[in-house]
Amino acid sequence: MNEDVHACTDPKHHVHDAKGFVAAVERACTSRGLRLTPIRAYVLSLVAHAGKPLKAYDLLEMVRTGDGPGAAAPPTVYRALDFLLENGFIHKLESINAFVACHHPSSSRHSVPFLICDTCQSATELEDAEIVDLLDARARGLGFAPRAQILEVHGTCAQCLAA
Ligand SMILES: [Zn+2]
Ligand SMILES: [Zn+2]
Repeated sequence: MNEDVHACTDPKHHVHDAKGFVAAVERACTSRGLRLTPIRAYVLSLVAHAGKPLKAYDLLEMVRTGDGPGAAAPPTVYRALDFLLENGFIHKLESINAFVACHHPSSSRHSVPFLICDTCQSATELEDAEIVDLLDARARGLGFAPRAQILEVHGTCAQCLAA
């Protein structure tokens, strides 16, 4: 569908275009018959604006002190996150318990390896279906039915290495 969006692997892209990102998710929701409620849209915009992985704790704090729709209690925020995760609009980075906006929200839920910089905390989606497919095939070869893949590589990004 949106091939040009797939080409973007720069996580900072969404800092400049968080509004456009939310609009893209809105369109995806409409075409897939999903409802992007105000709290879901608000949580999504917070994750998108952060431009880097947003810790669950920080997100809850932003919702609590922010000017979002209504008083959103933590369970409401977690339900909104679940919706966004389930539909592939955001990703959860398990190793650092943080959330990051997906670079290609028009595609459905997908597994992607992440490169996480331990110096600047940036996270880059590695657009590599081969790794995901290979793991999937290996698992199925052993009679295992894979449900989810969590691939998180920690290290130092090129920018931090150069600094
Ligand atoms: Zn993604
Ligand atoms: Zn870095």
